[in-house]
Amino acid sequence: MTHAQIPQLTLPVAANYRAFTSTVQDEFDRHVDDADNATNDAAYFVAMIRAAQTLGIAIPAGFDLARCDCFNNGCGCDLVFDAHTDGVVVTATNGPDSNLSQLQCSDCGHDHPRPITD
Ligand SMILES: [Zn+2]
Ligand SMILES: [Zn+2]
Repeated sequence: MTHAQIPQLTLPVAANYRAFTSTVQDEFDRHVDDADNATNDAAYFVAMIRAAQTLGIAIPAGFDLARCDCFNNGCGCDLVFDAHTDGVVVTATNGPDSNLSQLQCSDCGHDHPRPITD
């Protein structure tokens, strides 16, 4: 008897957002918005799982994916990554009605960090 392969173990842990078509990007954005607005853990987890599956990347252990904040506010980096990766920099905390903080990927966090100043 052989065991079924667990496909997640072979998936990449990060992806470049711009490598996908606008249709895929829109779908990913929708799932991330759902996660951002989720009012309970189950809804959040489902939204993040769908977001990961949309890009074909592994679902992070903590169910937290982020797109580098440099996409809109910095060098243009488009990396989508596990929010708990070592070296990630928080550039803004989540607002009162949302779940997601703004994060820089570990490379950007190393090269040109913009940590929260308060
Ligand atoms: Zn980055
Ligand atoms: Zn950057």
